[in-house]
Amino acid sequence: MRPDQLNPLFVESDALDGVGPKLFKPLEKLGLARVKDIAYHLPERFVLRHAVDNLDQASVGEQIVVALTPVDQRASAGRGPYRVMAQDSLGNICALTYFGRASYTARKQLPLGEKRWIAGRLDQYGQMLQIVHPDHVEEESSRLAGKLVEPVYRLAEGLTQPRVAGLVAQALARAPELPEWIEPSLLERQKWPAWRDALMLAHKDEHAAARDRLAYDELLASSLALMLVKESNRTRRGQPLQGNGSLRAKLQLPFGLTGAQKRSIGEIEGDMAQGHPMLRLLQGDVGAGKTVVALESMLVAVEAGTQAAMLAPTEILARQHFETIRRLAAPTGVNVALFTGRDKGKARESILMGLVDGSIDIVIGTHAIFQEAVAYRNLGLVVIDEQHRFGVGQRLMLTQKGRVTPHCLAMTATPIPRTLTLAQYGEMDVSRLDEMPPGRQAIDTRVVSIDRIADVVSGIERHIAGGQQAYWVCPMVRENEGEDLAAAEARYASLKERFGDAVVLVHGQLKPELKDAAMERFASGQAKVLVATTVIEVGVDVPNATLMVIEQAERFGLAQLHQLRGRVGRGSEKSVCLLLRGAELSETAKQRLALMRETQDGFRIAEEDLELRGGGELLGTRQSGESAFNVATLDQIQRLLPLAHDDARLLIDRDGGLASPRGEAARLLLYLFERDWGVQLLRGG
Ligand code: ADP
Ligand code: MG
Repeated sequence: MRPDQLNPLFVESDALDGVGPKLFKPLEKLGLARVKDIAYHLPERFVLRHAVDNLDQASVGEQIVVALTPVDQRASAGRGPYRVMAQDSLGNICALTYFGRASYTARKQLPLGEKRWIAGRLDQYGQMLQIVHPDHVEEESSRLAGKLVEPVYRLAEGLTQPRVAGLVAQALARAPELPEWIEPSLLERQKWPAWRDALMLAHKDEHAAARDRLAYDELLASSLALMLVKESNRTRRGQPLQGNGSLRAKLQLPFGLTGAQKRSIGEIEGDMAQGHPMLRLLQGDVGAGKTVVALESMLVAVEAGTQAAMLAPTEILARQHFETIRRLAAPTGVNVALFTGRDKGKARESILMGLVDGSIDIVIGTHAIFQEAVAYRNLGLVVIDEQHRFGVGQRLMLTQKGRVTPHCLAMTATPIPRTLTLAQYGEMDVSRLDEMPPGRQAIDTRVVSIDRIADVVSGIERHIAGGQQAYWVCPMVRENEGEDLAAAEARYASLKERFGDAVVLVHGQLKPELKDAAMERFASGQAKVLVATTVIEVGVDVPNATLMVIEQAERFGLAQLHQLRGRVGRGSEKSVCLLLRGAELSETAKQRLALMRETQDGFRIAEEDLELRGGGELLGTRQSGESAFNVATLDQIQRLLPLAHDDARLLIDRDGGLASPRGEAARLLLYLFERDWGVQLLRGG
């Protein structure tokens, strides 16, 4: 149970003044459904304004506060802007420019002949100075005094900066004082503020110590939770499983296993033979051959007389794994079933029966396979195909119920840098598939400007005329969903004009049936071009698809690009990946795309991307979902995680039940960051 103290933070955002259903929507979209989320919606940056007496003291591009008196208004014909010409104390003229509906407000706020205090960015338009959509217009200078430093928040459509700032203020006012969970000596050494103060300060200006403290909290929560899982796992009873090899001997794999695959299988077998449950991570790049390792491990469980379950993150992937595993396992005669949330009625009943009576040996599905209603005769092994880095711990929790804990193998396709492995997976044992199956072709990767899109489309035409298939990927970022979806649909429409029914579209908001139907058409080869948002990242194995176009490639995280690219180069034909880039790219963006061109080694890409992006990056990773953290940035993870890890270790060694006052505070921390599955594992917790 969540401690009462935290309740004010966990109420829905519509409890705040002024939030109705209309405002709640964009808040939810930004991930701000609860008061706590708003309190933690830290500014992306701050505007630093310079108060000037007149425009001679300001330079173009600068954020300023200045007194101006409107002297003239110019509404342009049609859809052009509305301009208020205003004069400073020296007689310099500056246009205050408004587009669209904002001009109505402007008319009211800026009566002719009356001095106003204006905050905004001074720009130049031809020979004219202008401020486009001033941030503030006030009658009295005192009202701008506190606004020389102002936070800038990430927004969604329907939200404005002042709106969000107001909600943040309300959320912060509701934040309770909480007991300290950080080791006092560390707090002192780092000169970190207390939790509530840190939260306030982080919204006020660029307060590095406050930001670090908040990030540290998150890292500590994560380290603690993962350690508790590990700790609890150590004390749990598992069943030693020893396969006799009878089923594995019947497999007729069309290839020999790589050394890395053999080694990993050996490590897994070794773990499964132990009396306490396995907790192992199989890390291997896209295409490294994790599926076979999973299959062999599951066969060990079946040989030993138990069942195995494989958890996939999405329906599509569950289906694909099912098809692959069933095909590969056919010669062994084991019974493989697919179970997803969509199974209803008789079909569902029959699978549930099969799991209880043990006639199903291997079940593959989404999280539905762990619902309360699902009982196993004897579940010996759980394989979690994570692909994405979220909530491995939480998924592990699913396996830690019941009298005897099954062995657990988590698989990830994200070759994250070593420092981040610890952050995301704690002290799990790791097997690395660091050797690709032989005969893999290099994927010819090119960076192409969007200006050349006509050539790219012609390229696709030649490509499919040659009997092959292609992916066309459009970016999809949560914050930008509306626009991104529209862009993907527009691209689909234009390709459809050219290629007709040979094009299918798949995106996250499509009904599952339609999505499956489209995927099916592509997988079977009826459709030649699959236009998709990033849903294809997880899963999809179509060896005949040998061309991938990724639009606005600069907007993707490198790990994501790498995973996407891994969808091609799966067959024997030469594969090509075209990274379409926008017209203007930052230096870092150029380097990042160049790195993609240069190497196909996922581990190297991960390490170098981390370096290229370096410190101070507030966005990016979170947007692209590469990090399991909401507060901590990559830079903070690297600097602070080792501290958090040691601190967590120390706390657990001293007070494994989290019963001391500091332990109690740490429990609060775990709830605050929703790592409470860690707490639940504590005996009596
Ligand atoms: P991932 O690690 O991305 O899940 P898969 O398990 O889907 O990779 O394997 C990718 C492809 O490589 C599959 O077509 C699989 O059959 C093939 N494969 C796996 N292991 C080997 C191997 N040792 N030799 C040759 N091909 C292999
Ligand atoms: Mg896979």
